[in-house]
Amino acid sequence: MTSKTINKKALATLAKLSQISLPIRIEEVAQLLGLKVLPYPLENEVSGILIIEDSIGTIGYNQNESRVRRRFTIAHELGHYLLHSEESNLFVDKNFKVMFRTTSSPEEEHKIRLEREANTFAAAILMPDDLVNKEVENMEFDLGSEESIKELAKRFDVSTTAMYYRMMNLGKL
Ligand SMILES: [Zn+2]
Repeated sequence: MTSKTINKKALATLAKLSQISLPIRIEEVAQLLGLKVLPYPLENEVSGILIIEDSIGTIGYNQNESRVRRRFTIAHELGHYLLHSEESNLFVDKNFKVMFRTTSSPEEEHKIRLEREANTFAAAILMPDDLVNKEVENMEFDLGSEESIKELAKRFDVSTTAMYYRMMNLGKL
């Protein structure tokens, strides 16, 4: 799946639910799509899980993590639900850092691809390109500065790092 396709899917999801205003209420988006979203007793290194049972999705998130992190987790699990529900009915996300190894099996490669896609979806739904463009146009200060990335991150309610990568991917930096 290309990131363009994933971006489209994320935007279509928001449009369908009339949820295109900042910050994106990701928990509400998931709930409107029929998913349950709840804090889960997860081991510390586990950020989130998605369980699909009788086609009903449940997203569990680690409540010990920061709000922006939890938001990203919910968006990531929603990505698995919308993009990968035919692949598996259980996703356990320890962290979103993709390991690059010189030798990885086809199974691992496949898993890494799914994680990348879920991350792309999370970024696309929390930081929709139209809204990023609009906010950037309205910004009065230097786009490349740390301050402006921080300000944008605040408006989108995401981490500064997530905002930075999104801006890079959208060719804004
Ligand atoms: Zn995942």
